[in-house]
Parts: sequence; C-alpha cells; structure tokens
Amino acid sequence: MGSDKIVSMPTATPAPQQTTGVCDDHGQFPQQVNLIFGREFKTGCPECSRIRREEEAARAEAQEALALRMRMAEKLGAALIPKRFAGKTFAEYIADTAEQQKALKTCVRYAAEFKKIAAAGRCLLLLGKPGTGKTHLSVAIANEIMAKSSATAVYRTIGSVLQAIRATYDHTSDQSESQILSSLISPSLLILDEIGVSKEKPSDFELTTLFAIINGRYEELRPTVIVSNLDAKALATAIGERCADRLREGGVIVIPFEWESQRGKEGF
Ligand SMILES: [Zn+2]
Repeated sequence: MGSDKIVSMPTATPAPQQTTGVCDDHGQFPQQVNLIFGREFKTGCPECSRIRREEEAARAEAQEALALRMRMAEKLGAALIPKRFAGKTFAEYIADTAEQQKALKTCVRYAAEFKKIAAAGRCLLLLGKPGTGKTHLSVAIANEIMAKSSATAVYRTIGSVLQAIRATYDHTSDQSESQILSSLISPSLLILDEIGVSKEKPSDFELTTLFAIINGRYEELRPTVIVSNLDAKALATAIGERCADRLREGGVIVIPFEWESQRGKEGF
C-alpha cells in the first residue's frame, strides 16, 4: 500500500539556483533558492543567522552560569555574602573626599576590567581603618562581576574559613577539608575579609590554610581580594612572606582606607 505512494512522488529535485538576497540590516548576500515539491525555499541572511546563533549561545552561557552559581550557593550555604552587604553596589557607596572617590574608582575599574585582571591574576588589597567601607566595596565588586558576566565570586571571612576547616577535623562537618579548599579556589574571584583581626600571632594552622588558598588560586591564575584593617607591612607579617609574594604576583593593587569611620554618622 505504502509503496504506491513512494512511486507517485517526484523523484528529482532541481539543482538550487544562486541569486542575491537583500537583508534590511546587512544588505546583499549570496542566496540559494531550492525548489522542493514545487515550492521555493530561500536561504536567509548569513549575518542574521550568525547573530542569532551568538545570541542563543550567550543565553545558554548565562543559564549555565546561573546554574553554576546556584550549585555553589547550595554548597556553601546561603552565606556567600553577609546579609548586611547582600546587594550592595558601587552606586550606594558614599564617596565625598578625593581619597574615597579614588578608592571607589579603582574598585569600579577592577570590576569593569575583571576579564583582563583575572587573566593576569592581579590581586586587590583593601587595607585600612574599620568602618571605612572596605567590605562594602569588595562585595560591590563581587555583585558587579556576577551581574555583568558569567564570573563567580565568593565572600568569606578568614575566621569562618578556619572554623569550617577545624570542623572537618572533629567530624562535625559533612564536608572534607579538600572540598572546602576547592570551594574557595574554584570561584573566579574570592574575597577574604577580616584578615589579621586578632592581635595574636597567627598559628601555623592559620598560615598554612591561608597559603593553601592563596597559592591554590595563584596556580589557577585566579585573583583574590584581601580585606584587612592592617596596613601593607603588618599584613605581610600577619599572612607570612610566602603568601604575600603570591599576592604580589601579576601586580597587586593596594587601596588604602585612611579616613575616619563612616559608621554611625547619622547619629544614634
Ligand atoms: Zn541580516
């Protein structure tokens, strides 16, 4: 029964005709006209289809980045960025003085040129007095690069990292030490806050953990942002020279925060 149908179909398709098509956006292009079962099928503008493919690829990449970020958020718990700083942007940062404007500008540029910065593995140090907006600006960099690209960023205080790793030793954690380290090494950007907060000399455990993180990121050519109340010299002592050397590679950027605290200015 079916074979009758096949026999009745046209057996030959005429060779495609070459003509010139016109696209409203891209002008003339070589066009093929195929005659299939008596109907004309024209090929479209190659530039338009290239743009469509690129847009589809960008959408797929954005979706993948979102999925990756959600997996990472799941892994690390919701506290990627402390609640107080979640959603902080450059626009909310109050920059009245020339120094504050310079600090803001440097951070804005760090985020805008993150692709180049990441390729060179350039680290950023936000150093100075408490209450001067260092954490705000560091988190704004993270929020900006996550919003504008497929980059991933993680914010942690060094205290929380050490605590999480200690918890793996007495088996109160469902993660291993290497899982925690890799969750800090794999993001495109890591922000480590509250370095050198304690006045005590850092323990060997603190120094080796810090080196494992910063060296691990250095080897993967991934930059780290360090936030600390110490000045550059005291920071190098607190984290150890080996660590400091890794941060300097690729050309470290240092922003001093030397003005008075902005906290509580509204009066309380
Ligand atoms: Zn076109």
